[in-house]
Amino acid sequence: MDHVQSHAARGRTLVIGAGQAGLQVASSLRELGDLDPITVVGGEAHLPYQRPPLSKAFLAGQAASPDLTLRHADFYDLHDIAIQSGMWIDSITLDDENGSSGTATTSDGETIGFSRLAFTLGGTPRRMSVPGADLAGIHYLRTIDDATALRAELDAADHVAIVGGGFIGLEIAATATAKGKDVTVLEALDRLMARAVAPEMSRFYADAHTRRGTRIELNATVTSFHGADGRVTGVGLSDGRAIKAEVVVVGIGLLPHTELASSIGLADARGIRVDQAGRTRIGGIVAAGDCALTAHPVHGEIRIESVPNAIAQAKSAAAALLGREPGKPPVPWFWSDQADLKLQMAGLSMGYDHAVVRGQPGSEQFSTLYYRDGEIVSVESVNSPRDYMTVRRILEVGGNIPVEAAGDLKIPLKDHLQR
Ligand SMILES: Cc1cc2nc3c(=O)[nH]c(=O)nc-3n(C[C@H](O)[C@H](O)[C@H](O)COP(=O)(O)OP(=O)(O)OC[C@H]3O[C@@H](n4cnc5c(N)ncnc54)[C@H](O)[C@@H]3O)c2cc1C
Repeated sequence: MDHVQSHAARGRTLVIGAGQAGLQVASSLRELGDLDPITVVGGEAHLPYQRPPLSKAFLAGQAASPDLTLRHADFYDLHDIAIQSGMWIDSITLDDENGSSGTATTSDGETIGFSRLAFTLGGTPRRMSVPGADLAGIHYLRTIDDATALRAELDAADHVAIVGGGFIGLEIAATATAKGKDVTVLEALDRLMARAVAPEMSRFYADAHTRRGTRIELNATVTSFHGADGRVTGVGLSDGRAIKAEVVVVGIGLLPHTELASSIGLADARGIRVDQAGRTRIGGIVAAGDCALTAHPVHGEIRIESVPNAIAQAKSAAAALLGREPGKPPVPWFWSDQADLKLQMAGLSMGYDHAVVRGQPGSEQFSTLYYRDGEIVSVESVNSPRDYMTVRRILEVGGNIPVEAAGDLKIPLKDHLQR
């Protein structure tokens, strides 16, 4: 704490949130030549780490906590970045309402002055409020501490229920099934990953998980959790059925942390409003990562929850803090590993009017290419990294793959890139 207070506020950038985006803002500032003090404050008692393995290798027991650390302690010393883990910022006040300098107050009542501010706050899992939701054995997965607790209980369980058929729920389901557990995924909508992938891909994943032994229940509305002696024993559904489970994992979305930014008029519950460069309406205050809500030219206001987005937005935000013009925003891309299925996506498929399947879904190696008005807008590839990379490149540099040629395996996709 003395360490933080000994820095003068003048010239100091305060980064609130020590995750993927927070670390990237700080390291990009240094890469861009910023020599002013930088303080990164994070509520978790860990140095910034990778979250993707939490539902995959870490949960499977194939990776340990140190393997997840993004940068070791000496990185921060070397780059003169003051990092404070296990410190929560409770409130901020600005010296004047349209300026970027002010004071942050921690939950211990300590104060940190700043002249520039980056919000990289991530979010917290949306919780269930049905009867029984507080029983032991019901888990949410966001942090390494969550994953450690879940891993211990998973190992002792026979029956596991996953509420929510999104990326995280399905990754956990695949990991638990591979551990030999009896796993049921309960999805309220009529298809899996509905917010992110097109119906064709949802159908493929429902079949693929079923083939691997995971039970997929669509249109399944959870109305209660059943328990005995304070521990969960099952999940009650609206159709009257009960699904046996000693461990439940709820993965029904993320609520962005927006309270600090709301208090200075920069956010509402949907996210912290930024432009394509991560700038809020106050110069010298930026936001990046899962908490940032960006105006997209085609899709309106969107929040993208992914590592590549956190990194790209944080790089732009760092440039913006130094008054530099950021580059063109990158094409969004994402991956999800579920069992031996590697899903890679580039672009945004929302609003597509035509889809072409390339390859055979039955072979578990194929891609779906999405079009709007005859122009390719996105790709989702399963175990087909070459298709994914080629389309991503075309989306980045411009060009198109004619609809009629997209499904023809005799024409390599890279031919369209060269033309
Ligand atoms: C289980 C899991 C699997 C995932 N798998 C993938 C994947 O396969 N591919 C992919 O691209 N993405 C994946 N993601 C998403 C990806 O991890 C996130 O998009 C990324 O971590 C977002 O980074 P961030 O810096 O915005 O937020 P975070 O990494 O959440 O960092 C924010 C930090 O800010 C801290 N904080 C918030 N408020 C305060 C405060 N007031 N004071 C102090 N500290 C505060 C939080 O405690 C947190 O540590 C996964 C996420 C999870 C949870």
